[in-house]
Amino acid sequence: MSNERNTKQKQMILSILRESDRPMSINEIYSKIVECLPKIAKSTIYRNIDSLLLQNLIDKYHLNDNEIFYRIKTNCHEHKHFVICDDCKKVFDLPTCPIHDLESAMEEEGFIIKEHQIQISGICKDCAKFKHNINT
Ligand SMILES: [Zn+2]
Ligand SMILES: [Zn+2]
Repeated sequence: MSNERNTKQKQMILSILRESDRPMSINEIYSKIVECLPKIAKSTIYRNIDSLLLQNLIDKYHLNDNEIFYRIKTNCHEHKHFVICDDCKKVFDLPTCPIHDLESAMEEEGFIIKEHQIQISGICKDCAKFKHNINT
């Protein structure tokens, strides 16, 4: 596949993620892209997403059922973690990353860190309120 075509597909993925107000799964990205490129294979999208991750342009996040969601980074030096509400899929940024001290400690042991993730699952205030109202 030509580089030019790859670049175009990557731009498309980026603009889909940019327009979305929440992280998207590969299936959601796929269903948006097939509207414009009906013949695109899901494996092509996976490949493009992997390369966007390597370029540090997007973030990935595992939800509890192990579905992976992707989100665009506002800048490539940004280091942020986020939590997604299990119910409404709204995104909440974590204020800081607590992992770096742990990483340094591991690196002193000679461990080479490739990446880290923070997994927090739960439901947001609004969804909790809604559930509470239904139960009472
Ligand atoms: Zn919610
Ligand atoms: Zn971190």
